[in-house]
Amino acid sequence: MPLVSCRACGHQVDTSAMACPSCGATDPGKKISRQQRNLIIFLIQLVFWACVLGMGGRYVWTHWIPPLKQFVAKSQAAAPSSGAPDIPDRIGMPAAQ
Ligand SMILES: [Zn+2]
Repeated sequence: MPLVSCRACGHQVDTSAMACPSCGATDPGKKISRQQRNLIIFLIQLVFWACVLGMGGRYVWTHWIPPLKQFVAKSQAAAPSSGAPDIPDRIGMPAAQ
């Protein structure tokens, strides 16, 4: 059972100790505490998911949006164009009998 000095208080503790018997620091034999390790893991996951969502958003923007825009433009071109000029003509036309 090798002994190391606690990173917080310098007390000699076992490397496998869960907490320092002198100051109560968690994982006293480790270079970083459990909270610091969790924070590092959290930050790595944050960066990873930011990259995944960023790439996914870019993929959708470059691959899905242009065909969608073309579809919208086609459907607008196929539809009866610009209703505003037609309205006076319809009003001016005699009623169909
Ligand atoms: Zn300690």
